Amino acid sequence: MPPVFRFAPSPNGYLHLGHAYSALLNHDLARQSGGRLLLRIEDIDATRCRPEFEQAIYEDLAWLGIAWETPVRRQSEHFGAYGAALDRLSAQRLVYPSFESRAEIARLVAEREAGGAWPRDPDGAPLYPGLAKSLSAAARDRLIGQGVPFALRLDMASARARAGELRWLEAGEGPAGESGDVVARPEAWGDVILARKETPTSYHLSVVIDDALQGVTDVVRGVDLFWSTSVHRLLQELLGLPAPNYRHHRLIRDAAGQKLSKSTQATGLRELRAAGASPADIRRLVGLP
Ligand code: GLU
Repeated sequence: MPPVFRFAPSPNGYLHLGHAYSALLNHDLARQSGGRLLLRIEDIDATRCRPEFEQAIYEDLAWLGIAWETPVRRQSEHFGAYGAALDRLSAQRLVYPSFESRAEIARLVAEREAGGAWPRDPDGAPLYPGLAKSLSAAARDRLIGQGVPFALRLDMASARARAGELRWLEAGEGPAGESGDVVARPEAWGDVILARKETPTSYHLSVVIDDALQGVTDVVRGVDLFWSTSVHRLLQELLGLPAPNYRHHRLIRDAAGQKLSKSTQATGLRELRAAGASPADIRRLVGLP
């Protein structure tokens, strides 16, 4: 079976050099290995994703000389699949609803921090400080009955106990040079959100379901997602899904050494193209042969 790679951008802005590097790397690796390349549009966040950004992704990738298989999977068309996975985790009693607002969560974190350091996840965000896990069934039902919006969280302690030790094969490198056989540390993320109040899924859940459904064998993406792989391995294990190989790659930085953002025009592919850059120039700029 040929390897299956994927490039999975979110259409919440225009692509920049960082995306070009990731897309070209996936393209090159697929080509070198006689593999396939899929494109997946990660558009679960209806408030930030826009059709014109999705259209621009197709144009920019085609301009770079990248070809992908069709039909393209658009995550917003598959909420049913993510819901079914949530139901399976619920049936295993591994998820619970949490009702706090952002402001309440911020207040709880401040309270916890007043009593000493409160742990942060690998992205630097405070772990969920709430107590929703211990709400009685009656209290939960009452809040749900009152129409209070809720997120669904993974009960990390139970999930961790169920899954045992997990690893993945890293062909690239983590932030501290981790590679090869990496031990997953999902507990570092606390009780992660699997479905948001305003979106019936989350990045972690949809990416795991889609990689499995699409038969992805090789996940090649930025090192900023390295430790997310811990959560992905855990969800794969709980849902009985295969683990792909992973290759996390360096990030392209701007002249000041900052991570690129979709709003910085200097490194936008459209701007570079308008300024006369060729696809070969883009390859050179991101350090690809
Ligand atoms: N959609 C994610 C992003 O644009 C990438 C997800 C992934 O490659 O796992 O950052």
